[in-house]
Amino acid sequence: MTPQTNPVFDIIVIGGGVVGCAIMRRFSLAGAKTLLLEQGDDILSGASKANSAILHTGFDAPPNSVELSCMQAGYAEYLDIHQQLNLPLLKTGALVVAWDQEQLSQLNGIIAKARENGIKDVELMSRQALRAAEPNLSETALAAVSVPREFVMDPWSSPLAYLRQAVAAGAEYRFNTEVQSGEFDGKNWQLTTPQKIYSSRIVVNCSGNQGDIVQAICTKPEFEIHPRKGQFLVYDKSAASLINAIILPVPTPTTKGVVLTKTIFGNLLLGPTAEEQKDRTKAAVDHDMLQGLVDTGTRMLPDLPQHLVTASYAGLRPATQFKDYQIKPEPDKNWIGVNGIRSTGLTAALGIASYVEQLCTEHFCQFGPAKTPHFVQMPMLAQHKQRSFEKGDNTEIVCHCENVTRCDIERALTGDIPAQSLGGLRRRTRVMMGRCNGFYCSAKVAALTKGKISPELAGEN
Ligand SMILES: Cc1cc2nc3c(=O)[nH]c(=O)nc-3n(C[C@H](O)[C@H](O)[C@H](O)COP(=O)(O)OP(=O)(O)OC[C@H]3O[C@@H](n4cnc5c(N)ncnc54)[C@H](O)[C@@H]3O)c2cc1C
Repeated sequence: MTPQTNPVFDIIVIGGGVVGCAIMRRFSLAGAKTLLLEQGDDILSGASKANSAILHTGFDAPPNSVELSCMQAGYAEYLDIHQQLNLPLLKTGALVVAWDQEQLSQLNGIIAKARENGIKDVELMSRQALRAAEPNLSETALAAVSVPREFVMDPWSSPLAYLRQAVAAGAEYRFNTEVQSGEFDGKNWQLTTPQKIYSSRIVVNCSGNQGDIVQAICTKPEFEIHPRKGQFLVYDKSAASLINAIILPVPTPTTKGVVLTKTIFGNLLLGPTAEEQKDRTKAAVDHDMLQGLVDTGTRMLPDLPQHLVTASYAGLRPATQFKDYQIKPEPDKNWIGVNGIRSTGLTAALGIASYVEQLCTEHFCQFGPAKTPHFVQMPMLAQHKQRSFEKGDNTEIVCHCENVTRCDIERALTGDIPAQSLGGLRRRTRVMMGRCNGFYCSAKVAALTKGKISPELAGEN
């Protein structure tokens, strides 16, 4: 018997956040033999699990930055492909609202920066026009900048679609597989995980809040990760009609500030906060910060307290001491670090993937022949689009808050990247994510998922 040798991949991506998934898609479609190693039990186990889900134009990004160019390329590619992947887009536009004289004096500067960034359709909106567009905003709103092409997207289905497209092109993935160390022999990397050693010609580090730790496998990192927590409140669907556009504050040098936005799933979202913390994994919510959010939200929308809060959550931005992304090849080491993708990675992911492919071509090699993309069809979860129960899937509704059918759940537990955890199932279907938080349907969900997910309805991850 001949001894089995480990396959050598062309590319191993460490980290299955939105950035890692988009990079997997890009290299797999280019014809590379790819593998994703993710320490969590599903994709989106880090920052990408909990964001505001806004598809940004880049109007307020630092001019001439890598971030801006990746955002704009990512934005354009998402608009190009989302319909083919059955991914939704809610075309709300955004309004940057000034609430005091100091902020009012900054609006012209915001318009000038947006135009410098190539966003030419921004406009100043007078107090009267703002009142007509957003009648529920507090009368203390003075004026706004309208940014008509800021949109809302599905933050969970899109990265899953990217990885599913990669898998359809031959990519492999391993969950629950933490990269702990690695050796480069001048030709290939050997990455050590608790299960086995994986070999690859090139490694792409997309490990988010672990970015500097994983980067140290290759070289002394030139950046440090400083996790920045953002807490959110999710209001019941009745609250979504209080606004039409995404309501943005005038940004400060350190944060985009607290936003009011509809979610693609029909709720109203309020947040995030911006809190530096040392812990890289714990994203806990706390009463005082949430109360602060309620107060801020109520100042903007006086009718907000009439609506119920149905959930709260927090995410950790993988920030560094630098403003810009830290995307850099290590030419002698066959390694590309994709780090510090702090507040705009959902928008920028597809653009980052193109940029990383370009760096790979410049410094290492080009792959090919390119694969013909297979456009997987994602289950439509958007509130404003037709859901499967409306299309007569003929199975019973299990989750009545979010209209999730038995067929939706069964489909998410099978297929090319099945949910292996309750969190993964919720993100793929919306089950138990409605106003009752699973009070009504959890017993039924437990029966349907028995032996198929972990932890078995013991708690969310
Ligand atoms: C509060 C908040 C609001 C935001 N709002 C928006 C928005 O509206 N629009 C927008 O475009 N962006 C937004 N973002 C930014 C966006 O969410 C991030 O930029 C993006 O999620 C970063 O993705 P990532 O793939 O780099 O990192 P992550 O999603 O953190 O992925 C890293 C992955 O690597 C894995 N990993 C780590 N170490 C290892 C290891 N050793 N081995 C294997 N796997 C490992 C982790 O488990 C994780 O899954 C927001 C972020 C936050 C936190």
